[in-house]
Amino acid sequence: MAEQNIISNENTVPTLCKRCSISPSVINLRTEHLCSDCFDKYTRSKCIKRMETYRVRYNPPDTDTSPRRLLLPLSFGVSSITLLHLLNSQFQNQLARTTRTGFVLVVVHIDESAIDPTVPPGEESMRAVQERFPGLGEYLVVKLEGIYEFSSAVKAFEIDTGGGGGEGGDWKEKLKGLLGALPTPTSRMDVLQILRTRLITGLARKHACEAVLWGDTTTRLAERTLAETAKGRGFSIPWQTSDGDSPYGVKFLYPLRDLLKKELAVYVSLDVPTPLRPLCFGAAEEEGKRKYAAVGKGITIDELMTQYFEGIEKQYPSIVANVVRTAGKLVTEGGVVRIRRCKICGLPRDGGGGELVLDAETKLGESSSEVNGNGNRNRGKKEGDSMCYGCARSVHGAKPYEWPL
Ligand SMILES: [Zn+2]
Ligand SMILES: [Zn+2]
Repeated sequence: MAEQNIISNENTVPTLCKRCSISPSVINLRTEHLCSDCFDKYTRSKCIKRMETYRVRYNPPDTDTSPRRLLLPLSFGVSSITLLHLLNSQFQNQLARTTRTGFVLVVVHIDESAIDPTVPPGEESMRAVQERFPGLGEYLVVKLEGIYEFSSAVKAFEIDTGGGGGEGGDWKEKLKGLLGALPTPTSRMDVLQILRTRLITGLARKHACEAVLWGDTTTRLAERTLAETAKGRGFSIPWQTSDGDSPYGVKFLYPLRDLLKKELAVYVSLDVPTPLRPLCFGAAEEEGKRKYAAVGKGITIDELMTQYFEGIEKQYPSIVANVVRTAGKLVTEGGVVRIRRCKICGLPRDGGGGELVLDAETKLGESSSEVNGNGNRNRGKKEGDSMCYGCARSVHGAKPYEWPL
C-alpha cells in the first residue's frame, strides 16, 4: 500500500531535476531525474566523449589540416537523426571557437524502394534534413541496388544463390532475384543487412571517408550482439560492435553507444532548440513494422531481439549495458588483416573452431547446383570454404522465389 502511495505522488507532484534543482524533470535517467536542459547536456557529453577518442575535434598538428571526412548513414530513424543533430552542434561549436572544423560529413540515405514499394524514395526527407543542418557536408540518397556498382560485394552472392550472372542486367531485378531466392524471412533480413553494410562501406571508400559513424544505441548494440550470436556469427561480434578498424577498409564508430533507445525517444521531443521528432520520417515506419512483426508468425531473429531489449531496457537498463560491455571484452588478437574473412558478409570468421564450423562448401555446392542446373555448378567451388557459419545458414537452400515475397 505504502509503495502505491509513493507512485501516485510522483505522478501528481512534478519532480525537480536532480542536477540543477530548478526545472521539472522530463526523464528518469536510470536513477536520476533530469530536466530538459540537463538531459540535453548529458546526451551531448556522451556523444562528444566518443568522438574525442578519435580526436575529430582538432586536427592533428604537423599534418594535413584538411578536415577528416566521415560518413553518416541516415535512416531517418530516431537514432541517426539524433546523431546528426549532435554532430551538427559539435561542428557549429568548432566553427564558432576556431573558425575551422575537424571533420565534414557525407550523409547518406539508402533508398530501399526497390524491395519495398511503400517506402518513400527519401529525396524530400533529405531536403528537409539538409535545411535544418546546412553546411555540414554532402547529402546523398543512394538506391540499394547501387550495391551492384561494387561488384566484389555481390559476386559471392550471385554464385551461391544462382541469381544474376555477368556484369550487366537490371540492378533492381537482380537485387529482387537475389533476396527472393533466400529460404526464410530471417535469412532475407540477414542478407539485406549485409548488403546495406557493404553498400555503405563501399560508398565510404568511394567518397574518401575514413570512418562510418553508426547511430546504434546501447540497446541496438545489445540486440545485434545476441541476434548475431543466434544466427551463428558470434565470432565476428567484436568487429560488429566495437569502435575502431572494421574489416571493410574504413573505421566504424558508434558515438551513441552510451545512450539507450528509450532515452533518445524522449530526446527527440525536447526543444533543442526545436524538436527533432518531425525529421524522424522513418520512425513511424519502424514502429509499424514492429507491430506487424509482433503479430506475424514469420518473426525474424532480429525482430525478436529488438522486442526483447526494448522490453527490458525500460526496467533493467543495466542488463542492456552489460550485454554490450561483455561483448566489448571479446577483442581478439591480431589485426583484421591477418584474419580469414567470409566472402558473403566480409566479416572475420571462425577458422579453428572444430565442430563449430559448418562444412559450408559441401552444403552450398549442393544447393547451388540444384538452383542453377545450367552448368555453372562448379563456379563457386574453389571459394566455397570461405564463408562463415551465419552466411552459410542464410544462403543455404537458396532457390528461385515468386516475387513479391
Ligand atoms: Zn536540470
Ligand atoms: Zn559471413
